[in-house]
Amino acid sequence: MTPSAGEDKSVLLAEINRILFSGYGICSCPLNYGTPFQLLVATELSAQCTDLRVNQVTRELFKYYPDASSLAAASRDRLEALIRPAGLFRSKAENLIRAAQSLITDFGGEVPRTMDKLIRLAGIGRKSANVILGNAFGIPGFPVDTHVKRILNRVGLCASDDPEKIEAEVNAFIPDKHWTNLSHLLILHGRETCTARKPDCGSCVINHLCKYYRHLCKYYRRME
Ligand code: SF4
Repeated sequence: MTPSAGEDKSVLLAEINRILFSGYGICSCPLNYGTPFQLLVATELSAQCTDLRVNQVTRELFKYYPDASSLAAASRDRLEALIRPAGLFRSKAENLIRAAQSLITDFGGEVPRTMDKLIRLAGIGRKSANVILGNAFGIPGFPVDTHVKRILNRVGLCASDDPEKIEAEVNAFIPDKHWTNLSHLLILHGRETCTARKPDCGSCVINHLCKYYRHLCKYYRRME
């Protein structure tokens, strides 16, 4: 019996996971945090900002606002000044204060541990919620960022721009114990090798599994 398309993709994703894992191993979240609340804040600040810059901002920020109650009572102007280097500082400050206030009023000051509750917080979408679930609580989650989306489309595992659809597909293709680390692996691979503008396909460790690379090889063969 020939395998179904879903089974093929499960095998392909398992192999990609195996190869990238052999290079990178177990990855930790690049955002610095001491508590789930601090990871929530760092995740909100990471929108359109590098992890390095977020870590510089939070080093100072957490001295003044280490928990939900202090942030819920923060002065908007002071908070904006502290997070300004992370960009989009006005909307981020508003979301952070609103999220902290919701944590106090709706969740007893604690970060909730379910997707449904997390995405009720201002500024938290599925990607951020999955980062928090997977990294702060060890609850499987598959965050789909721009690197993850790009690689999974290039290798031919997905054919969609919709992060929610990609997340659902990956969740179906591979056991949940792999989700959080696989997302880290793909992000690292996207930063170091499968970059947006100029993927280094020649030295890519998963190029033998990649649809984009197969097309590229065919194109160059035709040119010869
Ligand atoms: S072969 Fe190229 S396009 Fe495919 S995953 Fe590797 S770097 Fe990305």
